[in-house]
Amino acid sequence: MARFIFVTGGVVSSLGKGLSSASLAYLLQSRGFKVRLRKLDPYLNVDPGTMSPFQHGEVFVTDDGAETDLDLGHYERFSGISAKNSDNITTGKIYSDVLKKERKGGYLGKTVQVIPHITNRIKEFIKNDTSKEDFIICEIGGIVGDIESLPFVEAIRQFANDVGKKNALFIHLTLVPYLRASDEIKTKPTQHSVKELRSLGIQPDIIICRSERSIPLEHRKKISLFCNVNIENVIQTVDVKTIYEAPISFNRENLDKQVLEYFKIKSRKKVNLNPWKKIIKIVLQTKKSINIAIIGKYVDLKDAYKSLDEALAHGGIHNNLKVNLVRIDSENLKVSEIKNKLKGISGILIPGGFGKRGTEGKIAAIRYARLKKIPFFGICFGMQMAIIEFARNKLNIKTATSSEFGAVGTPIIGLITEWNRDGKKIIGTDKNLGGTMRLGLYEAKLKDNSLIKKIYKSKLIQERHRHRYEVNINYMDQFEKNDLIFSGLSPDNKLPEIIELKNHPWFVGVQFHPEFKSRPLSPHPLFSSFIKAAKNHK
Ligand code: GLN
Repeated sequence: MARFIFVTGGVVSSLGKGLSSASLAYLLQSRGFKVRLRKLDPYLNVDPGTMSPFQHGEVFVTDDGAETDLDLGHYERFSGISAKNSDNITTGKIYSDVLKKERKGGYLGKTVQVIPHITNRIKEFIKNDTSKEDFIICEIGGIVGDIESLPFVEAIRQFANDVGKKNALFIHLTLVPYLRASDEIKTKPTQHSVKELRSLGIQPDIIICRSERSIPLEHRKKISLFCNVNIENVIQTVDVKTIYEAPISFNRENLDKQVLEYFKIKSRKKVNLNPWKKIIKIVLQTKKSINIAIIGKYVDLKDAYKSLDEALAHGGIHNNLKVNLVRIDSENLKVSEIKNKLKGISGILIPGGFGKRGTEGKIAAIRYARLKKIPFFGICFGMQMAIIEFARNKLNIKTATSSEFGAVGTPIIGLITEWNRDGKKIIGTDKNLGGTMRLGLYEAKLKDNSLIKKIYKSKLIQERHRHRYEVNINYMDQFEKNDLIFSGLSPDNKLPEIIELKNHPWFVGVQFHPEFKSRPLSPHPLFSSFIKAAKNHK
């Protein structure tokens, strides 16, 4: 049977629960075990799909098409394990399941309550869809003491009791602050946080202490004494220079060793940290850098394009370069300013996006990249905008637009149903925005003699999608006659997946999101290739 590891947080949020969980997953996996990572989110949204990137950071998409919390991206990047739909749950989804069952009479008229009905549903989720895993690591979102996370904390308490304490381990991550004025390290917030956790019936087995500086032994002893945890299980995590150091740092502090000791399991293999060491060397020592402009709507919030930022960094690592991201707000990008704003830029990237706001700025920047032969990468919405730009300025279809922006103009981008049903538009009939998109892995066939085929070194690829609208295949000939090649198509030849421009150093648009599949230990070929082209751009 799988062993379950529950990771809770205390004192403040953003201490790196996700990164700690993912690093632990890497270490256990490297020791020869099969691991899954799960995230239990306390918010009421049924899934993060309709949440604004402004508020919550990017929506991460899995192979099987789930729209999940961005922490699952961290998990994948660090552990190399592809997440699934069954790895992310929110309070909203739990309640919606329970209420659906209640409406169907599934509780036979009983009073439906948080305990046991909500907690039972949470416990089902924790156990669901696992087979042959040695470890399931479950991260509980938020911090202990939040009203919203209470049912989760109660459920994991019950769960440990159900499977037996020898099969369940509680890790609590807290902050151990350093006070500059008095030059002191303080353990009190950790003590309070553990007290809170214990008042909910959970005694942590391991405490991870996040700190700005190394925590002296006497302070760790104090935490051990007051929190009732063995001194070996008080593990410090001191701020690292780059997140890629995290697995190495946790291994140095014996996190993986203590976890195995708790379960009385012997390691199957020696941990291999060499790939991380290689990356760290490049990241910390490389002096050479290039500037890549990301032109989008959500440039103010750092996490809005988390996977994209990471994928570009991976591309840099592959090319022995540092990639500086220059975020440009497309809404305030005036045509007259483009030349100035793009000074010193070696590559332009337009990421995924929704809605008309800010599109004219994006289109103008694409035109600039096309004419000035600056490497250009359009992702999802970015590819759609490149199509509109080309249609307007090269094919002379001045009214070219996307039906996402309303029923005016020539919808070169639209819903596939619009051009498949004898001109009878059925757009707008679906008012429910959640769950109406093409989501998850889809195949694309790559054309011979194309740049894209050279990049992937393959004829058939699979990438993750998250979009409603498509480029209208009926315009393909017109585009191709003018050197914009539809170099990747869906296997049934109906949907354009990739476009590329001839006689341009690097101009590629993709309808999917390659950034979700890029990992530091295996950078995505498209990002490696884009950064290489940017490196060669004068
Ligand atoms: N808004 C566009 C669509 O729905 C693109 C989505 C995206 O970039 N992820 O098709």
